[in-house]
Amino acid sequence: MLTNRINSLSESMTIAITMLAKKLKSEGKDILSFSAGEPDFDTPECIKTAAIKAINDGFTKYTPVDGIPELLKAISNKLKRDNNLDYAPNEIIVSNGAKHSLYNVFQALIQEGDEVIIPAPYWVTYPELTKYCGGTVVEIQTTIDQRYKISPEQLKNAITPKTKLLILTSPSNPTGSVYSKEELEALAEVLKGTSVWVLSDEIYEKLVYDTKFISTGAISEDMLNRTITINGVSKSVSMTGWRMGYMACKNIDLVKACSALQSQSTSNICSITQKASIPALDGTADDDIFRMQQAFKARRDIACELLNEIEGITVVKPDGAFYLFVNIEGITKDDMRFSQELLKQKGVAVVPGCGFGSEGHFRFSFATDLESIKLGIERIAEFAREFK
Ligand code: PMP
Ligand code: GLU
Repeated sequence: MLTNRINSLSESMTIAITMLAKKLKSEGKDILSFSAGEPDFDTPECIKTAAIKAINDGFTKYTPVDGIPELLKAISNKLKRDNNLDYAPNEIIVSNGAKHSLYNVFQALIQEGDEVIIPAPYWVTYPELTKYCGGTVVEIQTTIDQRYKISPEQLKNAITPKTKLLILTSPSNPTGSVYSKEELEALAEVLKGTSVWVLSDEIYEKLVYDTKFISTGAISEDMLNRTITINGVSKSVSMTGWRMGYMACKNIDLVKACSALQSQSTSNICSITQKASIPALDGTADDDIFRMQQAFKARRDIACELLNEIEGITVVKPDGAFYLFVNIEGITKDDMRFSQELLKQKGVAVVPGCGFGSEGHFRFSFATDLESIKLGIERIAEFAREFK
């Protein structure tokens, strides 16, 4: 009954585990969840105020499919101010979260015979979207020694005449690694003269700690022209439920294609969310963004220190995002059984590394309060000692 393309698609493991943890908690079980890629902070007041005003003003009707002009202008200004990227408002489309922007781009760009280069460990959605669109996943496996970042040589070896797209996620989900300007320049050198597109997922841009964030498209004009920039407000402004993400691209054919697809599927995103997203982008919420970033940094430091004290467990301190990619090879390679038993026996939810293309690991989200982090790691330590 079902199509081949839908049969090729798996459910998002990150969402499935997060929802299971929420369900167990609502049933009264003592659950500590480190599975969600979702900040625990409330959405900043200035954003809520803008939303309430939009409702009271009756701003509750259909809007242009790509987004209201003032929001597209706010994004264009933000990309210039924060990222040194020149995108006109008509080169931007607002969608229902960055995940929807990714879906549009994959649908518009990838078909049977196309190869998509995905550095591993990767976020769960990229290979699934590739397969869904009929494309072939070409994985580049990275190691802890390279801080989970691909080298120019690895990229060169992975490119074939069929390569359509390279995915770059910096800061990365699940490893938190961040590419430096020099590293991006070296990758740009390899891409020069090829017809490979780059999808730069910059959703964790504001969550960098001891380093500076650089946008892929800001490296050179050649990179700007081949890059599709993806971003949104979910992670940096704690707006996961509001559903606002965007894509920006210099290629008007691709922008128009994504717009046509959106016009025939979801239309505009929620009108109220659009108004509320403007203070998230124009600098009004910057103090709140900074406050959250500082809290994440403190949590990262403590969580890393405590996890590294556990025998058989190692973790490198990530430069960005709010995840620790924890190596448990000193205990077991079977991260699925480890994670399932950890939830069953100790009520601690983490995401197994196999979901991100890397066995012998689990992903620990530190987008949770410090008390829970300390208690959760105590339980992980106890479990690690008992695990057979
Ligand atoms: N990209 C990455 C790397 C992510 O981790 C997420 C998390 N959901 C997204 C995109 C999508 O975010 P959203 O749809 O909430 O904007
Ligand atoms: N991106 C988040 C995560 O990795 C949210 C879940 C999802 O969209 O897959 O946990």
